[in-house]
Amino acid sequence: MTKFAVFTDLDGTLLNHHDYSYQDALPAIANLRARHIPLILVSSKTRAEMAHLCQELDIQDPYVCENGSVIVLPKPWVQQFNVDTSTLTDAGECWLAFRGAARDEILTIVKANKGECPFVGFADMTVEDVIACTGLSHEAATKAMQRDATEPLLWPQDGAGSEEFARKLGVYNLQLLKGGRFYHVMANCDKGDSVRYLLSLYQSYYGASVHSIALGDSQNDLKMLKAVDTAVVMPHPDGSYMSDKGLIGELHAPYPGAKGWRYAVEQALQQ
Ligand SMILES: [Mg+2]
Repeated sequence: MTKFAVFTDLDGTLLNHHDYSYQDALPAIANLRARHIPLILVSSKTRAEMAHLCQELDIQDPYVCENGSVIVLPKPWVQQFNVDTSTLTDAGECWLAFRGAARDEILTIVKANKGECPFVGFADMTVEDVIACTGLSHEAATKAMQRDATEPLLWPQDGAGSEEFARKLGVYNLQLLKGGRFYHVMANCDKGDSVRYLLSLYQSYYGASVHSIALGDSQNDLKMLKAVDTAVVMPHPDGSYMSDKGLIGELHAPYPGAKGWRYAVEQALQQ
């Protein structure tokens, strides 16, 4: 019997754009659980932000945080899958697989190379500062600030000087990604790397190849979508789909958010 693994983005993919609800996806999630198909959440969110969601959805599988820079491997899972822990970091209830530099190292490099750049990082902000520039609740801002492997920078003056700063970071195998509101310093890794890493663990455990499925809606999902057998592109709320020459034979979910997710997962499993 074919083994499957499902990887999914959260915002605008498993979670609705407007209300962050996953309710409409629950039947498909229950179906995956009944068939023992791993469901791996892959997001730009932090471990603190994602741990709660995994608990709510009763997901025992690994999950990928901060855009692929750190993977959380629950200890019972590591034991069951007989994963070598020599390169992992012990974080109490779970092991962490860093795909590059950890945040302490990133902060040291950022500080040493800041020069005259006018940015302010999360490390230099209070919770109130983060609330003021994001509009997050106190609880959400606290979770967003608990970072393992990336540092968001608020960069005034339209990011003047950011290209030169990015060049300096490149020497240390770090990259500077421009997001909606922040620039993000992180290792040279992405969601696709993490998906390949986890697939290799599943494949060695099963002793067989795994049919991989991934669902995403935006540019930072592209490398994940290209790393799997069946890519599912979710529509934006306006009904448009991201397109890319590198995507081949991708499925288009019929609706945005959780409802489209449910249909698309069922369709991808039937293929
Ligand atoms: Mg998204």
